Amino acid sequence: MLPYVKISEEAVRGHLDSATVDVVSASLRSAAPGIGDLLNLISPAAEDLLPEMRRAAAVLKKKHFGKTIKLYTPLYISNYCVNQCRYCGFNAGSESERKRLSIDETTAEAEVIRGYGIDSLLLVSGEDPSHVTVDFLVETTNRLRGMFSYLAVEIAPLDKNGYERLFEAGIDGLTLYQETYDRKTYEELHPAGPKADYDKRLEHIVDGGEAGFRTLGIGALLGLYDWRIEAFSLAAHALWLRKRFWRSKIQFSFPRITSIDGDFQPPRSISTVELERMALAFRIVFPESEISISTRETREFRDSIALTAASTVSAASSVVPGGYLDAERRELGQFSLNDTRGVERVRADLSALGLDVVTKDWDALFAVA
Ligand code: SF4
Repeated sequence: MLPYVKISEEAVRGHLDSATVDVVSASLRSAAPGIGDLLNLISPAAEDLLPEMRRAAAVLKKKHFGKTIKLYTPLYISNYCVNQCRYCGFNAGSESERKRLSIDETTAEAEVIRGYGIDSLLLVSGEDPSHVTVDFLVETTNRLRGMFSYLAVEIAPLDKNGYERLFEAGIDGLTLYQETYDRKTYEELHPAGPKADYDKRLEHIVDGGEAGFRTLGIGALLGLYDWRIEAFSLAAHALWLRKRFWRSKIQFSFPRITSIDGDFQPPRSISTVELERMALAFRIVFPESEISISTRETREFRDSIALTAASTVSAASSVVPGGYLDAERRELGQFSLNDTRGVERVRADLSALGLDVVTKDWDALFAVA
């Protein structure tokens, strides 16, 4: 059974295989599409309706986000990690160069990013429990809170108390990917370390919801398992979280495995057009949710998906600790970057497409009762 839905993968595959162009068209016209419509929209039958999907998604994106597209930048604190994810260059067994930033160094990197005009920061770290502690993150947040209007974390899972402390310190969003929702694949790819526990990984985002984070970011690392099954599980997970944590926004990301992930060959790769269809389907079924596309993807893909599905894109990213102050380190990170444009170039390119590029869409004052 897939998590959060009492449906077998076999039944999902049956639905996908039996969808027709007519049911896909009906899903595109639906006033309140649900998870069955999502399946129709990612089914093989939808392949010929890509232009119609683009149009429908663009209308919904405009309705909920206007012409805006928000920029954010990730800041890597540490690439030490106790886990052994087979697909990641930061895994404990890898010989990649390691670096941890102190609070002063993290603040100095953040100042560079602030200098780009960025106002939303994502703090990222490998699972490095001896250095990136809750106290470290609280102190870092205290330093950064006045510099950025939106702060989020993508770090090792914490317990509810840890998340509550971060939320009270001023962290607005939590990103925690399940990586793959397929239990067998998960167990094969996470052989050791705290992350080896599939169920605990699923539960931690619940702790984050209970702590009150304004945004809950979820996703699957695409390429590990059949993208259509991952899409269905991700949607089911989102519906469950949305019902329970209705005050929080759900943010979807669709990261694809890139070449730096060592010798690892993605067992179930997903093409660019399939990725686009997945993003369009999520925009249509979750019109109010955030969709974020990172610099793993090319500028062409990112610019085009910003018109139809994405509400948030990263810019000027370095995926290595210290990469903003030391430009030579910038691209030696957790994954390879396919869009290395600076903030001004991203801003100019998106503006030329008629989009309003925003760096700020939140202020802590909004949270005052
Ligand atoms: S994916 Fe995350 S948890 Fe896994 S090895 Fe890489 S940094 Fe560590």
